[in-house]
Amino acid sequence: MSTNLLVPTAKGLYCERGGFFIDPRRPVARAITTHAHTDHAPPGCDQYVCTQPTAELIRSRYGPNQNCLTLDWGKPHQFGEVMVSLHPAGHIMGSAQIRIEAIDGGPVWVVTGDCKDDDDPTTEPFESVACDVLIIESTFGLPIYHWPEPETVLSQINDWWSTNAAQERTSVVMTYAVGKAQRLLAGLDPSLGPIGIHGALVGPTEVYRAAGIELPETIRAGRDTATELQGRGIIVCPPSAAGTPWIRRFSGKDGMETAFASGWMAVRGRQRWRGVDRGFILSDHADWNGLLNIVRNSKAKRVGVTHGSTEAFSRYLREFEGVESFVLGDQRATSDGDDG
Ligand SMILES: [Zn+2]
Ligand SMILES: [Zn+2]
Repeated sequence: MSTNLLVPTAKGLYCERGGFFIDPRRPVARAITTHAHTDHAPPGCDQYVCTQPTAELIRSRYGPNQNCLTLDWGKPHQFGEVMVSLHPAGHIMGSAQIRIEAIDGGPVWVVTGDCKDDDDPTTEPFESVACDVLIIESTFGLPIYHWPEPETVLSQINDWWSTNAAQERTSVVMTYAVGKAQRLLAGLDPSLGPIGIHGALVGPTEVYRAAGIELPETIRAGRDTATELQGRGIIVCPPSAAGTPWIRRFSGKDGMETAFASGWMAVRGRQRWRGVDRGFILSDHADWNGLLNIVRNSKAKRVGVTHGSTEAFSRYLREFEGVESFVLGDQRATSDGDDG
């Protein structure tokens, strides 16, 4: 039997003593799911073990009959020979870190999943969990990633919208449909005009509202609401809507202004690459300092790094933070293909 509680396999991180995978890449019998983004919760698992909000988001995407075993925050549940508990990861609503401890003792493992420690009224705040071995994501694990205050960014978005509306230009913000979109909606000022959302956002946005997250009134952007939105509204949509006839129908008298909201906008050139007029730096992942804080507060002596800038971040931890660190192979998309 492996001395490591978790081992990387072709399907994802596997816990032999607990009989489960964490965020598998392919369907498995039992998946412990950190959060509802599809690269962490593939369709077709026999069972998803997750928080209640994650279960709601999974069901809104994959259908109401998904088998989800929901665990209360922080409450240990036994699987095989290990105890598992879920703790807020601060990434999107319901996102959890997974704490694992064998019933006969030994090192405590924590898997952060995607995580952030910023202010975000649409998600449970990140909780530091002490552990011996930490598995952390490093999507933005380079010192060039330093996020501005989210409130500042959200007020920039409102200012931009207000300026566009004064010129009869529709504002279009592209962002990921689950999590980031709702965080953005929560920061919009509805007194500036109507807020339209793409069909892909309707389901997750309703799940957020049902969970008690306060969001401004939105209308589904479509043929029947186009006139209302043209020139003065803001439309939030996924990046896939860029350049489509769907988006063009909302054009105001003086056209439209487009923006992309993502941590990737911190890199010059990405905005141009996305073909948008503006880039707003709003991420649902921790930036460089955020990642370091999470590692330090965990007091972990071994840190596995996955997702994104793994080599650089792992090396920094070894050389400057004095922890044992290793890279965990991960075939997920590592740049704009992923949520950012
Ligand atoms: Zn995610
Ligand atoms: Zn991810």
